[in-house]
Amino acid sequence: NAYIDAIERLDGRLNSFITRTPDLARESAKAADAALAKGEGGKLCGIPLGIKDLFCTRGVRTTAASKIIGNFVPPYESTVTSNLLRDGAVFLGKLNLDEFAMGSANLTSAFGPVENPWKRKGSDAKLVPGGSSGGSAAAVAAGLVLGATGTDTGGSIRQPAAFTGIAGVKPTYGRCSRFGTIAFASSLDQAGPMARNLRDCAIMLESMAGFDARDSTSVDTPVPNYEAALSRGVKGLRVGIPREYHADGMPAEIEALWQQGIDWLRAAGAEIVDISLPHTKYGLPTYYIAALAEASSNLARYDGVRFGERVNHGGSLDELYEATRAAGFGDEVKRRILIGTHVLSSGYYDAYYLRAQKVRTLIQRDFLNAYENVDVILTPTAPSGAFAQDEKPTDPVQMYLNDIFTVPASMAGVPALSVPAGLDAHGVPLGLQLIGKFFDEETLLAAGHVIE
Ligand code: GLN
Repeated sequence: NAYIDAIERLDGRLNSFITRTPDLARESAKAADAALAKGEGGKLCGIPLGIKDLFCTRGVRTTAASKIIGNFVPPYESTVTSNLLRDGAVFLGKLNLDEFAMGSANLTSAFGPVENPWKRKGSDAKLVPGGSSGGSAAAVAAGLVLGATGTDTGGSIRQPAAFTGIAGVKPTYGRCSRFGTIAFASSLDQAGPMARNLRDCAIMLESMAGFDARDSTSVDTPVPNYEAALSRGVKGLRVGIPREYHADGMPAEIEALWQQGIDWLRAAGAEIVDISLPHTKYGLPTYYIAALAEASSNLARYDGVRFGERVNHGGSLDELYEATRAAGFGDEVKRRILIGTHVLSSGYYDAYYLRAQKVRTLIQRDFLNAYENVDVILTPTAPSGAFAQDEKPTDPVQMYLNDIFTVPASMAGVPALSVPAGLDAHGVPLGLQLIGKFFDEETLLAAGHVIE
């Protein structure tokens, strides 16, 4: 009830929820109480969570923050959310995001922007919470939920976690099932937890993860005890510092934060090793080809026939598609569909899409080579702290630069997390990123726990 009240009081300003479900929450809290009274109940019994509105939830409207999906009420539950329900979690509602998870500032939602609960010192400017899991990040940071699900295709868990001073984990691709999660770029999309600290993330991840035969890319490997891994420490751990992440024009405060992280890990017994990830500079351009190609294909299903809103002017079938998509998709989504279909079109496929796929392999090899000498890699999460809503870059490519540090791990499929590590000159949170080996979330969590 305290969380339901907090949402009532504070979410008018933050806009972190698209759909609130207080009645359902009260019902499942009652069931949780009954289970606890009998000495039963899973590891999340009674824990109030928010769900990014990209996960299908049975009987609860699911929008992907897009008008085109309309008032879709899924008849089934995503695997990740059903795992959380199995362990007793209580859902408070569906959280806002960039439309179809495309964005880095939560400014593209059809349900309006999300506001970061943090303010700059001495300023009333509204800050962005990052994106695309900005509703999840804002709700956790403001104390409206104890944890939230996020999804990360190129940074959408890590960057908003950094912008709001919380922890977020993007697990290895294949660790959490994608079944029932609305697709953006299927070879990159990965669900993960967002919470106030890594211990809460570890407990949530243990519940969310696991093999699922309904997702052909889900990997059948046992889910370890992530919470226990937290206290392993970093003695003797080799931490790589990739020289290519010293990006041109990176603010001095981000460099200083990075150095602080290095010092903390060294003081805790880690060995710091300089490494090279030579194809880093191709991360962003290849991501914005590969991801958008997949998005254009995934979003082709929204044609006004089988799903969501239909705009029908009584013309031909093609005209129905055209009118529906023109009205239903926002500008950023349209931009991405156009780029995606362009790079896949005959004559351009070899030059763009195929080339991007090859470079993606090189990026992945960079990581595999590095992991012969180091156990984890430390970098900043984002090149800046949260910016103001009205400082939004007008050039979309400028906005894409926010993902410069998060995209390479996504392209490689390796796990990565962000932990709060300091404040910028305005007193707004900054995060550090740790990138790990395939399915070695445990070492990642142990190293992150030393920093947080
Ligand atoms: N900001 C990136 C993009 O716009 C990442 C989004 C995501 O991870 N879903 O594509």
